[in-house]
Amino acid sequence: MFDLTTAPPGRRHAVVIGGSIAGLLAARVLAPHFERVSILERDRLADQPEFRKGVPQARHFHLLLARGLMILEQLLPGIEADLQAGGAVPLEWGAEALWFLPAGWAPRYYSGLRTYSLSRDLLEWCVRRRVRSIKNIAFRTTAEVIELLSDPGRSRISGVRVRCSQRAESAPGAVESLSADLVVDASGRNTRMPQWLEALGYGSLEQTKINAFMGYATRYYARPENFHGQWKSLNVFRKPPAMLRGGALFPLEGDRWIVTLGGGARDYPPTDEAGYLEFARSLRSPLLYETIQGARPVSPIYGFQNAENCLRHYERLPRWPERLVVLGDATCAFNPLYGQGITMAGRGALLLERCLQEQPGAELTGLGQRFQKNLAELNTYPWLMATGEDFRYPVTEGGQRSMRTRFMHWYMDRVQMLATEKASMFTTYIEVVNMLKPPGVFFQPEIAAGVLAKAFRRQPADSPSPPGGFSTPMRTGDPSALAGPASPDGRY
Ligand SMILES: Cc1cc2nc3c(=O)[nH]c(=O)nc-3n(C[C@H](O)[C@H](O)[C@H](O)COP(=O)(O)OP(=O)(O)OC[C@H]3O[C@@H](n4cnc5c(N)ncnc54)[C@H](O)[C@@H]3O)c2cc1C
Repeated sequence: MFDLTTAPPGRRHAVVIGGSIAGLLAARVLAPHFERVSILERDRLADQPEFRKGVPQARHFHLLLARGLMILEQLLPGIEADLQAGGAVPLEWGAEALWFLPAGWAPRYYSGLRTYSLSRDLLEWCVRRRVRSIKNIAFRTTAEVIELLSDPGRSRISGVRVRCSQRAESAPGAVESLSADLVVDASGRNTRMPQWLEALGYGSLEQTKINAFMGYATRYYARPENFHGQWKSLNVFRKPPAMLRGGALFPLEGDRWIVTLGGGARDYPPTDEAGYLEFARSLRSPLLYETIQGARPVSPIYGFQNAENCLRHYERLPRWPERLVVLGDATCAFNPLYGQGITMAGRGALLLERCLQEQPGAELTGLGQRFQKNLAELNTYPWLMATGEDFRYPVTEGGQRSMRTRFMHWYMDRVQMLATEKASMFTTYIEVVNMLKPPGVFFQPEIAAGVLAKAFRRQPADSPSPPGGFSTPMRTGDPSALAGPASPDGRY
């Protein structure tokens, strides 16, 4: 057991709603600042990696970005070794992964950027195991938060009301009140926080929803023993509006592949065998279909269609109750195209840590409001990246397309063309995707000049087969370092 607490008197109890990635990381940063931290989770939590219904998206492929991995290791030292021990597959983004971008195949070379490919279940379990070992963090499972409690003046949150479905000492369905000095909501994209705030008299919350009507279908396969592909993962991007379909195959622990097909503009991938394979066959490259065609499925086909972008503007409410914080998908849920959710949950946790460190003494006044304002700023670029892509679909609802959106599409098409032509440019591209560099680097003079040189070029026609070899020799052995640190200002 690790004892992290150095809590000043007066910070007795913090409650976290939701025991998924955002909730676990929030609990980790709260632990040194409170005598005790309780994680309230609606689901039962297993002692092994296991799917649970509170996180339905876990069936589908989850990319762990390099920045996310760095944050996990920073908050929970040793977790990278846990992931490896659990069978997570190291993945070198240039040499071992095939990326069929809208502009063409990415070059193959040793990029120096490595992450892991693993199931979301394994990732959450490894995080949970580390968090469980912190002495003053307690888990209460099958405990559903149904309401916020406040002081009589409703200016301060004082706890939560919880429905306990399976506790031995209480009848199923019994409701109890838990008092807390700080409440953190990490209950995900379907949080009831907007309703709870309205019930307390805080008015109607502004929310931006942008929906490109994406759907996903995922199946797991045993990796064939005779698979001799010179790659570990394959990602065939959509090319909207002309091609609405994409697909990805990634390796998982247990010698498995996860294959997630996705379609925008209501072109949802089917969940029946024949329809699923036919959808795979219709992608821009036949390689994914050819690879899975003879492989042995080890799961049913799972569908998912609730993946709209949703940004909740807590920072814009004229009043904010003291002692309340909201983070993770409960604040900003992204279309998963860029795999940003877990990393942003980690960045939110680091921000909470910084805000707590900056609070004087045991004082918590102003913490929540300051946190929400800073988090809104942090979400800006990832939100623009996710939603900007969704505006390529004509049917997309919500938000506003502007001249700037059209310019960004034009500009990014050319950035991607450059990325398919030059290894150094692809490195920059994946560093931005991995949140190691801010998207602003695409506007540096050298890249802007390259974009202008392609001003009148259209995206090249698709060449369905990937490049055969590596454009620079592969270094032998596994690269051990990730692609450099985040920027010194901590924003990127
Ligand atoms: C299809 C899809 C694919 C994705 N792919 C990626 C990816 O590639 N990479 C990536 O980084 N992210 C991805 N994401 C996002 C990622 O899943 C989330 O960002 C991540 O799980 C962190 O979310 P969270 O912890 O805020 O919420 P969640 O993971 O949704 O967890 C919320 C938790 O709160 C609990 N809960 C809910 N209500 C209550 C309540 N009232 N009381 C108690 N407990 C409650 C739930 O049971 C659950 O455990 C994807 C999302 C989707 C939908």
